[in-house]
Amino acid sequence: MELRDLEKMGRCPNCGKEAIQVIEAKPGETVVTCMNCGAARHYDDADEGVGVQATFDDALPKG
Ligand SMILES: [Zn+2]
Repeated sequence: MELRDLEKMGRCPNCGKEAIQVIEAKPGETVVTCMNCGAARHYDDADEGVGVQATFDDALPKG
């Protein structure tokens, strides 16, 4: 399984600043880490993942 790391500018829900958000798409979960404050958010693929889809929809690999 190939892992892909993505970076995208976005507003961090933790520190509230526009900063690079590193998106790691792993099997079973997506981890988004803020490069400003270092906060990592884990989104389980079994959940609806609304937060990731709403914020990073165009950065996530399709299919
Ligand atoms: Zn942050």
